[in-house]
Amino acid sequence: MELTLKRSISSLFIAILLIMLYISSLYNYLLFHTIAEIFSICIAFTVFLLTWNSMEYIKNKYLIIVGIAYLFIGVLDLFHTMSYKGMQIFRDYDYYANQLWIAARYFESIVIVVSCVYIKSKKQINIFLVFSIYTIITAILMLSIFVWKVFPICFVEGQGLTLFKKISEYIICTILFLAIIILTKNRDAFNIRVYRLLLLSIISSIITELAFTLYIDNYGFSNLIGHYFKILSFYLIYKVIIAMGIKEPYEIIFREMKQTEHLLFNQNSLLKNQAVIDSLTGLNNHRYIYECLEAEVQHCLRGKRAFIVMILDIDHFKNINDTYGHLIGDDILKGLAAILRDNTRQTDLVGRYGGEEFLIMLSETTINEGYQVAEKIRKAVENMEFVKNIHLTISIGIEEYTGEKISELLTKADSKLYEAKNSGRNRTIK
Ligand code: GH3
Ligand code: MG
Ligand code: MG
Repeated sequence: MELTLKRSISSLFIAILLIMLYISSLYNYLLFHTIAEIFSICIAFTVFLLTWNSMEYIKNKYLIIVGIAYLFIGVLDLFHTMSYKGMQIFRDYDYYANQLWIAARYFESIVIVVSCVYIKSKKQINIFLVFSIYTIITAILMLSIFVWKVFPICFVEGQGLTLFKKISEYIICTILFLAIIILTKNRDAFNIRVYRLLLLSIISSIITELAFTLYIDNYGFSNLIGHYFKILSFYLIYKVIIAMGIKEPYEIIFREMKQTEHLLFNQNSLLKNQAVIDSLTGLNNHRYIYECLEAEVQHCLRGKRAFIVMILDIDHFKNINDTYGHLIGDDILKGLAAILRDNTRQTDLVGRYGGEEFLIMLSETTINEGYQVAEKIRKAVENMEFVKNIHLTISIGIEEYTGEKISELLTKADSKLYEAKNSGRNRTIK
């Protein structure tokens, strides 16, 4: 929604600007020309700056070479604007503006077509070399126009366009058309949106050139249309650089960030899990048991009914280890954990207290209710046939919480267990 709103506002803004531009042409054509050119010059410089600063992110070398050229195209267009009929800046000669225009368009179209060599290139481009070549070409063009005065004349007041200018516009159109063919053949090197923008930009340039073959007056209607399409053509190149130099890298960064975040979240959950789970039995570990008991005490302080804890210990487990080995002993511990889980509810706390001792906490349970659960478990263990037909028994001590410290509660439960052991094992003492 926000994006559509932003787009609508910018479209509206651009529409108003273009209309105001038209109105300015009614008032004074020189004003229109100056604003229109400055508009496209600003875009050209922006294209250059964006390309220059996001060069390492733009994967397609073609776009980098073209993007950098816009600095020089902008400079030629700036001189074209300053020397336009009526500007009174360069007064010694009448032909500069049209010569600079044609020079800029040749430069632009040739760059667009020659850089195609780099569309699929993986080689590192020498930016210094590219910049130097552009500088030298621009300097030669400027010197041939302003100093040596050897650049062919393009427009004669009263007579209109010279043959050179007309032929040049058609040559430029042909060069641009060639660029369209080459780009279309290599369309797979661009993403579809960029390819379309590039194509539209070149088509706009061709329309610009065609509009300029028609005019006889520097202040005429086709000149106006030509300038509109020039702005459009530059703007579309700007969109290409924004798409490749800013949007795409950002999208890649955000995608990678999301993936990392997901990975971290998963690893974090795993670590959290490992911090509270006993790796052998999969039951809650000692640390977690303590945390839960603390939380349960807080519940009781807030008026909930008391809870009970039972400590369970395997009888003569040492003998089993000694007879069958530790690995079998471990399997038995896992089997016992399963029995404890099967005979308790999901909401009950079942954990490995340490070694072969287990702890169960039943909330909102009386000692008599707890006793029945304990006996059920004890009998289930007694009747269970563990690995290798091993039978075993457990002893259990139960204690009810009566407001004491957790350590005291556990010591009491432990002494009940001790009592169970001393009175013959395989029993529950409450
Ligand atoms: P009692 O009936 O008095 O409890 O006799 P007991 O042999 O079970 O004595 P005690 O509870 O002191 O035994 C602890 C034994 O539990 C010692 C150790 O061999 C065994 N044990 C503790 N942790 C593990 C374990 O992770 N794996 C295995 N296989 N054995 C364990
Ligand atoms: Mg023990
Ligand atoms: Mg034991």
